[in-house]
Amino acid sequence: MDRVCSFPDCIKSAVATLGGCKYCVAHFVSTCYKCLEKTSDRANEAAQKERRNLLVEIVDTVTSLSQGSDEFTNQERGQLMDILLWACDSLAERT
Ligand SMILES: [Zn+2]
Repeated sequence: MDRVCSFPDCIKSAVATLGGCKYCVAHFVSTCYKCLEKTSDRANEAAQKERRNLLVEIVDTVTSLSQGSDEFTNQERGQLMDILLWACDSLAERT
């Protein structure tokens, strides 16, 4: 894969895309955590919908990443699994 992470100054290969940007594993993980930690504005319906779409994208991306990939360390796998559970939890809260 010749695509490179779109994080500034990062030269690692991208393994996933999120919100139209390409990320290496480490930056994908940190970007996901940042999204998950952001508290949603319950008064703002558009923002809630946007957050929901992003959570769905995170779940889809993490699910496809964890399938058939041997290139991750145990720590990375743990982080991806944590993100997946957290995103699913956040989605469930909103319904
Ligand atoms: Zn990166």
